[in-house]
Amino acid sequence: MAATPLFTCTCGVQKKTSNHWILAVTSAQDVKFMPWDAKLALEDHVIVLCGERCAAALLSRCLGDWKASEYAAVPAPVASAAASPQPAAAASAAA
Ligand SMILES: [Zn+2]
Repeated sequence: MAATPLFTCTCGVQKKTSNHWILAVTSAQDVKFMPWDAKLALEDHVIVLCGERCAAALLSRCLGDWKASEYAAVPAPVASAAASPQPAAAASAAA
């Protein structure tokens, strides 16, 4: 018999079959929300959420973390003027 994995939201609610749960992945650079996927939900870095309210709470926590790390980290340059790839073919050589 297959064990039914138990999913628990960040708020402590446990998933039931009828719930419309969603998934989220966060990092220092982004936050991503995804539709429920039982396989994905088993992965360690994926956060399971019981609904929109907890998704909103997670988003706001991420924004807070990002803001906090802004003060700690030296701001990185946004535009990359130096690293623009040049096409191999330069000016057309006359035959
Ligand atoms: Zn929740």
